[in-house]
Amino acid sequence: MSINKKRLVVATGNAGKLREIKEILSEYEVLGASELGLVFDAEENGNSFCANATIKAEALRQLTSCAVLADDSGLCVDALMGAPGIFSARYAGENASDQDNVDKLLTMLDGVPLEERSARFVCAICLITEDGKKIYGEGTCEGRILLSPQGTGGFGYDPIFYSLDYQKSFGVLLPEQKNAISHRRRALEDLKKKMK
Ligand code: IMP
Repeated sequence: MSINKKRLVVATGNAGKLREIKEILSEYEVLGASELGLVFDAEENGNSFCANATIKAEALRQLTSCAVLADDSGLCVDALMGAPGIFSARYAGENASDQDNVDKLLTMLDGVPLEERSARFVCAICLITEDGKKIYGEGTCEGRILLSPQGTGGFGYDPIFYSLDYQKSFGVLLPEQKNAISHRRRALEDLKKKMK
């Protein structure tokens, strides 16, 4: 039932992300922008995850007076001074596949021993409330970049990300295991705390 709930429009069509957001921000009726026929185009040209999440949220907010939420995430590798960072989706080029990005990262880390391959997934979330107030959440998930892929689960860099929480590659985890500790989950929990 959503009669008494305020609507929250999310700048994604990703069903997994929507499910997670619904679960955590249960006081809202959570809908993906495309479910409402809202098509928005935002150039993600910010210089941080937070800036890009804000750009997406503001673009969506132009199309609705409801509360809106956008996230931006990526992988930061210490030995590469934080790269690929905000460029994670297009590390190996504008139309790069997940495999291309993984291959490029492994090449960039060639010769770097495991103990120096510390890295973290980072997620920033921007919520714009109905009355226009911006609230931010941020979450990280610590790990190391493996020497070669382990497992085929997940997406993006998951098969080469060794989670310190699980002592396993994200590529071998069940989706619910990963979702329980993910950077996105932590960013949402952080947001929820700040909403109170
Ligand atoms: P987005 O912000 O969800 O679009 O993610 C941007 C990019 O960061 C993705 O295309 C992936 O390359 C990478 N990324 C973000 N989160 C994850 C994750 O949980 N696993 C693997 N790769 C991720």
